Amino acid sequence: MSGSIFSLWQDIKDLARSLLYDKESACLLCETHVSGGQVFCDDCKQTYFRPDLNRCSHCGKLLESQHTECEDCVAGRGPKGMEQAVAWGHYTGAWREFIQNVKFKSQPYLLKQLGPPLGDFALRHLPPPHWIVPVPLHDERLGERGFNQAAAMASLLHWELGIPLWEGLHRVQPTAPQVGLSRKERLHNLESVFQIVSSSRGLKQIQGARVWLIDDVTTTGATLEHCAKVLKRGGAAQVYGLVLAAGLEKGQKKDYSASEFGVIIGSDRRESVTIF
Ligand SMILES: [Zn+2]
Ligand SMILES: [Zn+2]
Repeated sequence: MSGSIFSLWQDIKDLARSLLYDKESACLLCETHVSGGQVFCDDCKQTYFRPDLNRCSHCGKLLESQHTECEDCVAGRGPKGMEQAVAWGHYTGAWREFIQNVKFKSQPYLLKQLGPPLGDFALRHLPPPHWIVPVPLHDERLGERGFNQAAAMASLLHWELGIPLWEGLHRVQPTAPQVGLSRKERLHNLESVFQIVSSSRGLKQIQGARVWLIDDVTTTGATLEHCAKVLKRGGAAQVYGLVLAAGLEKGQKKDYSASEFGVIIGSDRRESVTIF
């Protein structure tokens, strides 16, 4: 084989390899080759997204298929402010690592391929909403991290499904670390953390609305519950939680709470007025 023909053959092989095995056709979690348009390989779908399992009809955690509600929700300890929450996958292994890389290694671009499958999952499990609302980060944390992973997810769904974002929910207090706190202290820790800070026009937009509340992960459901209660006090009629991942029922902490919430109106937080 002459040099020029060999070089041409190498170019053809490189092109074929790039077409067959480029990043667009590799599983996001294990890099196994997947056919066009797929984001995850069949093994990862089965391992992390568990189509064989139900989701608790209230809090969204994954359940054995013979159950529709987890023990906490049956016992009245589930999130009380939401109609329903649903988790896309199981917070474990490579899926957990993926979510942590997005969040703690500042890699929000990893989310960009999730729009179509996440949108499809959401529409199959939840009724279409009027608004998509991300769980907010406090400004201090936003400054440290540079982005809000829940807001990035909400934007993906917005672009994928054409459903508008509502950005009037704010975290007005940083949350102290929960580790080592008693149950009473944990509950107190989340009180008054979330508030609606919106123009009167924005507040009007969610009156009677159905909302999807978006976060990356839920464990106890407390954050979703607190946000949902604030949204309902602000006028939302129905709140559905959607998260990338949750635990299996076994080993879930039983730490749901009721709390007090505030709603603030005004075009600027500094000018806003507490009405609840
Ligand atoms: Zn895979
Ligand atoms: Zn539940």
